[in-house]
Amino acid sequence: MDELDAPLSTRLPPRDAALLATELEVETVRDLLWHLPRRYVERGQLSSLRELQPGESVTVVAEVASVSAPRMMRARKGALLSATVGDGRDVVALTFFAAHPGQLNRHVAELVVGRRVLVSGKVEVFNGALQLARPDYQPLDDGSDAAELADRPTPLYPATGKAPSWKIAKAVSTVLDTTSEIADVLPADVVRREGLLSPLDALRAVHEPRTKADVGAGQRRMRYEEAFVLQTALAQRRASVAGERAVARPPRGDGLLAAFDARLPFELTDGQRAVGEEIAADLAREHPMQRLLQGDVGSGKTLVALRAMLAVVDAGGQAALLAPTEVLAAQHLRSITAVLGDLALGGLLGGADLATRVVLLTGSMGAAARREALLAAAGGEAGIVVGTHALLQEHVQFAELGLVVVDEQHRFGVEQRDALRGKASSVPHLLVMTATPIPRTVAMTVFGDLETSVLRDMPPGRAAVTTVAVPMDKPAWVDRVWRRVAEEAALGRQTYVVCARIEAGDAAEAGEDGGEAPPPEPGPGGKEKRRPAAAVSDVVAQVRAHPATAGLRTEVLHGRLVPAEKDDVMRRFAAGEVDVLVATTVVEVGVDVPNASVMVVVDADRFGISQLHQLRGRIGRGGLPGTCLLMTEVGPGGPAGQRIQALVDTTDGFELARTDLEQRREGDVLGAAQSGRRSSLKLLGVLADADVIAAARRDATHLVADDPHLAGHTALAAAVADRVTGETERFLERA
Ligand code: ADP
Ligand code: MG
Repeated sequence: MDELDAPLSTRLPPRDAALLATELEVETVRDLLWHLPRRYVERGQLSSLRELQPGESVTVVAEVASVSAPRMMRARKGALLSATVGDGRDVVALTFFAAHPGQLNRHVAELVVGRRVLVSGKVEVFNGALQLARPDYQPLDDGSDAAELADRPTPLYPATGKAPSWKIAKAVSTVLDTTSEIADVLPADVVRREGLLSPLDALRAVHEPRTKADVGAGQRRMRYEEAFVLQTALAQRRASVAGERAVARPPRGDGLLAAFDARLPFELTDGQRAVGEEIAADLAREHPMQRLLQGDVGSGKTLVALRAMLAVVDAGGQAALLAPTEVLAAQHLRSITAVLGDLALGGLLGGADLATRVVLLTGSMGAAARREALLAAAGGEAGIVVGTHALLQEHVQFAELGLVVVDEQHRFGVEQRDALRGKASSVPHLLVMTATPIPRTVAMTVFGDLETSVLRDMPPGRAAVTTVAVPMDKPAWVDRVWRRVAEEAALGRQTYVVCARIEAGDAAEAGEDGGEAPPPEPGPGGKEKRRPAAAVSDVVAQVRAHPATAGLRTEVLHGRLVPAEKDDVMRRFAAGEVDVLVATTVVEVGVDVPNASVMVVVDADRFGISQLHQLRGRIGRGGLPGTCLLMTEVGPGGPAGQRIQALVDTTDGFELARTDLEQRREGDVLGAAQSGRRSSLKLLGVLADADVIAAARRDATHLVADDPHLAGHTALAAAVADRVTGETERFLERA
């Protein structure tokens, strides 16, 4: 076993080891050494109490002057503890909140009057006096700290009440002192080329820096290491799939695809043609295609996928199309059968000679329809099977599954991907489509095991969509929104109204892609709790009651309708029989109704950038100019306001993806699995470290090509194994 994988109890007193394990899930030497400081404070950054300005984030050294007992707050639920610290001239209050008074007792124990502490926090004014709300602090007990602080950056670790930063620092120091050598995961030539520190020096530099430059040099090596370990894992996965055999599906000039192309009512875009060729080349090989298709909302990804499916049918295979929702699966079935016409009537009266069959398979189908679809898939009559997760169930069999297309992937995990692959006698080809574009290095990190194709151009005839932020608290503006909806309806056009919740009292459905950080814990005198998001049930009542829209045909669509109802509403909306569809984010991805020209998002501030971009992508599809009305109570300035402004400013999905990423923490970007232990990227920024990621990917690919099982790289193998466990495994394979 690698020394780094040794349990901490071999290096620390058992009580300390147990504390780190229970508080921080830090169990091994590796866990602890990679438990990196969240930030550092330096003497140079210390503020004097006299200089504090409201709104600033500051770090001060001061002495505890007083501490109150924890007490329940009168106005709100929860407990409060206040303390004051002073520097002999000025004092500032520290305020701590918790659900129960007992949770605040640890502060009473730490904040002994007269003790010197290093405190950081945000300066606020409360009742005319300065306070630091929810501060971080670190007691400065022995005299040495004070002297050291003079020039050394002090690490502040992610900590808990029972395992405060200074205790972690002590444990790290003990472990570092008893570590004489750490095997390097990086190849020597990479270390030389990049001029990186040795692993142990890097760890010392980040945990016990003497200067700011130490921190930088240590982080640079660890960042490279992090990127390299991750890219090695991904390169191994790529290599292992590439080593599998697939049935080659070479194109045919006289098949279904050719017949389909011949009757397409429009020209393919250049991008569709180019990506189509890339895919055809992949399909013609005896190794499974592993391709990610990126393109902005409305760029025509579905058509690319359909052409790939037809090519596979031409070559004697079947294709499965997995959609994230039943609404989307049903829509795919409708639109694919519509564009194929008699080419989709295989085995039926009126079917063309070459025709195949397209069937739907979802969890909620009636038993008879379901049995028929299962038979058509298993017997091979269905060339294309469209479905949801139901396709993954064990009893679903294919005669000759040749291609799996995963639409709008971000809802699909990997177990699903592998489950589908398990349904073929040989490994099927795979095409994954993103819902919205993502920056290149995110693709390299999150989908690093896939080759990437990008659709850069939009089909012609796409009309402009105008986006306007509408203040919800201004009745005249809101009134204008509903009159606008009525005007469009009078022109025969349709409107989506999207809400964050189904019914009052529900939890919000929106924001699931991390658009919004949890609201800050309000301090005393802080803002009132936010109004709950408007619900579909409220808004539909409003639309039906408003004089302008009362006469319109208005329906609701949300996850709580039974599937048949959902399908019926969606079908009638698509057929133009519904003027206004009040819905939740079930219409977020993929829904394609060209006659819809208005998108109203209620409480737009509760949605993330990519969600809003997706929602807006539902309109402007049919050559009709679109209007996107983002209703919000949030002013510009804050992060929610900035998100809305970004949507107002641009319709370029690639640009929005960058903005989105800049606003969010990496953990959110990389998906929920990233929040698990050990799995998150600690130092690497998927935007900021683009160069590192790209270089590490090249290095890792070379190394894996020479040594696929890392037989000659044991330290690297151990680091990869450590990453690829549990949560991380899911993360790596989530694509
Ligand atoms: P997305 O990439 O968001 O999935 P879709 O595949 O839904 O986009 O395509 C959006 C619309 O553009 C569809 O109505 C589709 O029929 C149409 N479309 C696709 N390709 C072309 C093209 N080359 N020319 C004109 N319209 C196209
Ligand atoms: Mg689509």
